[in-house]
Amino acid sequence: MQKAILVDRINIGIYGRTNTGKSTIMNLLTNQNSSIVDDTPGTTSDIVRVLYEIHDFGPVRIFDTPGLDEYTQVGFKRKEKALLNFKECDLILLVINPNNKNLKVENEIMSLAKQYQKQLIIVFNWFKNQIQNDYDLNKNVEFILENLFDAKAHNHLIIDASEKESSRKLVEAIKQFYKKEEKKIDILPFVKPYSFVALNIPIDEETPERRLLRPQNVVLDYLLRRMVPFAGYRMDLQKARSQIKEIQEEEKNNYLAFIEELNGTSMGLQLVITDSQAIDIVDKWTPREIPITTFSITMINYQSNGHLKKFIEGLNVLKRLKKHDKVLIAEACNHDRKCDDIGTKQIPRRLTQKLGFELEFKFVFGREFFSKELLDDCKLIIHCGGCMVDSQKIQARILTAEENLIPITNYGLVLSYIEGEKALNRVLEPWLKQLG
Ligand code: SF4
Repeated sequence: MQKAILVDRINIGIYGRTNTGKSTIMNLLTNQNSSIVDDTPGTTSDIVRVLYEIHDFGPVRIFDTPGLDEYTQVGFKRKEKALLNFKECDLILLVINPNNKNLKVENEIMSLAKQYQKQLIIVFNWFKNQIQNDYDLNKNVEFILENLFDAKAHNHLIIDASEKESSRKLVEAIKQFYKKEEKKIDILPFVKPYSFVALNIPIDEETPERRLLRPQNVVLDYLLRRMVPFAGYRMDLQKARSQIKEIQEEEKNNYLAFIEELNGTSMGLQLVITDSQAIDIVDKWTPREIPITTFSITMINYQSNGHLKKFIEGLNVLKRLKKHDKVLIAEACNHDRKCDDIGTKQIPRRLTQKLGFELEFKFVFGREFFSKELLDDCKLIIHCGGCMVDSQKIQARILTAEENLIPITNYGLVLSYIEGEKALNRVLEPWLKQLG
């Protein structure tokens, strides 16, 4: 079966100390003035991110980062962010001024590349006003390569970033030295063609007009490409949770009629995928013999490159949480939060009810980094499906959580856990073979 390509863009990070020409290199690579270039040290005060296409190589995401040798309070903050970003990179371009004799920053970057198993190219940027001839340049480069930690493990090139043609040299080096890894993962590895999948997509005030949410789109695309027939149901959650028995019954009958109709076809119904917030209803109403799972679980497995197991293990901490423990809720998209928002309202409320005591919830939205300050004293991270950030970011977040000894889990898993062991086992059952 055809597999989905997980890493759709290769992340390239430009690192080094201040005033080595990192921003000039960014502009050379992207053929535009993406970063401000100036002789003033620390001109790049935050990470600049540009999406770009390298012909015969593929789409890339290039990060120009602040110099790591700024020893001020704000400099340390910039460094922390740049180093968190480091984990998201597939390739590091370490930019060095060959006139530099102090290799503290460069050795730090090389050690990190080794620790996180990053591919790296050393880029010597030749400043002709500092070194005037080839002999001195080569002597300096040799000195650095001899004294730089793990230098032999990586390729290097020498350019003069002030010259336009250096752009070609850089691109060719990236194409030649970067080893593309086959990172492929199936979104729904257990789904077979020619049998129905039912998609439960409740629509509420937060649902944008004229488009589905990305996890729903990703799943639809996957099913279509694999000749898996599907049908969508819009569950009315207000009716489904109504205290008035007749209203609730009406919604239940509608849902059951939909499920029975699909199951009664010659193709049969192989799976129900639901929005996580409806798991309580879908678990109760769907006949036991029909497997169910959630969009959020499907998405986090895909985005984490198949690391669903780590998110399941993260649930264990729920049994050990104590009153007022801090829990970080991480949602990878940013939008206006209305009504009964899943991340900021439903999960805190339902988890508090389940545990029977108050927790302290912190929230982070969008692409924000998992800084020390944010993670401070957190006992658990609950992450959404993560569809609006790249897979490298999700994997970097897992790594940061592990480094800080904080378990990480997921919206769909937590909401299923809240419903009880049976519901949790049920949503996980389709995945068990893949988890080993
Ligand atoms: S980023 Fe998270 S919350 Fe937003 S649509 Fe994707 S999975 Fe849902």
